[in-house]
Amino acid sequence: MSGIYLHIPYCKQACHYCDFHFSTSLESKSAFVTALKKEIALRKDYLGDERIETIYYGGGTPSLLTAGELEEIDNTLRTHFNVAADAEITLEANPDDLDASRLETLRKSAVNRLSIGIQSFREEDLHMMNRAHKATEAVDCVKLAQDKGFSKYHHRPHLRYSRIGRSFLEEELAPGI
Ligand code: SF4
Repeated sequence: MSGIYLHIPYCKQACHYCDFHFSTSLESKSAFVTALKKEIALRKDYLGDERIETIYYGGGTPSLLTAGELEEIDNTLRTHFNVAADAEITLEANPDDLDASRLETLRKSAVNRLSIGIQSFREEDLHMMNRAHKATEAVDCVKLAQDKGFSKYHHRPHLRYSRIGRSFLEEELAPGI
């Protein structure tokens, strides 16, 4: 089984605890997508004829990609790699990007699993971390994702964040599941 990970290095704003590679300027996003498609084509022989069972869009904030950009990348992957028809395709998404209309669009795309970046359901903690979403958006987007038919998703808390331990997060996240 093989998988492909794609890093999408753009974010709306910088969370205080984060040390991933990203830019808060979206100016180069379109050029990046063009370069990514070229890179995919250049790497077409890297996995031979191996079946690709998983594709993971990580970041950064991949939910900043437009539906068109996602489709272009997906088409390029399927052109150059042996992607299984039932491959699990995960998109990391932040709650503030997951309104009803966006979720409907995502359901029509190749994405069939969401990794939702919820660090807390507490407004004060979200503010301290400089997260772009509100506590209400965190709860709402989980319910909306379920309503729109996403049966595969998971929350993605940053457990390394020192003030918030695992038990605290599990307790906090429980109401949203
Ligand atoms: S949205 Fe994610 S990748 Fe971007 S700064 Fe925040 S934690 Fe880091």
